[in-house]
Amino acid sequence: MTHPFLDLAPLSAARFASIEDRVARLLDTRQDVVIMQGEALLPLEGAIRGTAGPGTTALNVITGPYGQTFGDWLRDCGATVIDLAVPFHTAVTAAQIREAFAEHPGIDFVSLVHAEAATGNTNPVAEIGEVVREHGALFYLDAVASIGAEPVLPDAWGVDLCVIGAQKAMGGPAGVSAVSVSERAWARMAANPRAPRRSYLSLLDWKERWVDGGRKALLHAPAQLEMLALEACVERIEAERPETVMARHASAAAATRAGAVALGGGLEPYVRDAAEAAPVATTLRTPSGVAASELVARALASDPALPLAAGGGALAKEMIRVNHYGGDATVGVVQGCLAALGAALAEKGLDVDLEGARRAVEGVWR
Ligand SMILES: *Cc1c(COP(=O)(O)O)cnc(C)c1O
Repeated sequence: MTHPFLDLAPLSAARFASIEDRVARLLDTRQDVVIMQGEALLPLEGAIRGTAGPGTTALNVITGPYGQTFGDWLRDCGATVIDLAVPFHTAVTAAQIREAFAEHPGIDFVSLVHAEAATGNTNPVAEIGEVVREHGALFYLDAVASIGAEPVLPDAWGVDLCVIGAQKAMGGPAGVSAVSVSERAWARMAANPRAPRRSYLSLLDWKERWVDGGRKALLHAPAQLEMLALEACVERIEAERPETVMARHASAAAATRAGAVALGGGLEPYVRDAAEAAPVATTLRTPSGVAASELVARALASDPALPLAAGGGALAKEMIRVNHYGGDATVGVVQGCLAALGAALAEKGLDVDLEGARRAVEGVWR
């Protein structure tokens, strides 16, 4: 008896390499792309531990919860860390990065999150990349939440370590991830005595035993199911065309924003400037006195399948996340989310315009 995901043949090195090539095409990069056998935190941590050490001066940009984690890893590696935190309702600017370099000329590493699914903002990576390149620092980017929802172009932007995961806008598996690595980044790792070696966190192991060997023999048995799912999800994006997938996400974000404003009831876009709002997910601020977690619970009671969540930690009081990514970047899901939130606000006695919200979403959807 055959089973759809049991008794699979081992994934060959050739197939593994071809999936890496496919991911490289999605990123439009000529850098080495290494697919890591774990959730995106694996290459995120491996890339920092591989390149940072006591001699490193890192500018760590914090626009959401992940930036905090990167700063902790960098400090753990012995790096001197300059944290640049911006309020979650905005994005960081290239001018702020330039000022940081002027103040701390020793910066030789910059860590940045591209888009934040957790706070709903997106940062201007192309402009920031220009500043980072002018100063010769190594540029590390978490593009897990942006890939598939908006352009991610490591070569054009001068990104040395670009980490992606498939579980957000790509609608793919969470158990494998990828990182593109520039020659400069490989050189930094090779020269770093503290870079993980013979370790699951090691990128250098993949460089020395996989990339440099012509990708003929894998380091260990790959996660077949997750690899096949990653291949299928990139294939699906190629078939729909990446521009179309990204346009769906942009429409979902714009429609959610416009719909929330039209809905009223005190709901507001959390990210104030639409240009700084991420296409992957839209965050909304609840009116004072209305807990976001309670509103989300009421909305989910009417339809548990809606991609709604309250913000993490202290943000659960005031932030609603509409996770309109992957298969949820549709006009129907956006309408459903706003209708459910509108009904929940009405139950709390707030004045909402459900029909106005519905028309606003329709008007914005491209
Ligand atoms: C989702 C996400 C990740 C991956 O983390 P999970 O906790 O597994 O979801 C990493 N970085 C960013 C910016 C993300 O949005």
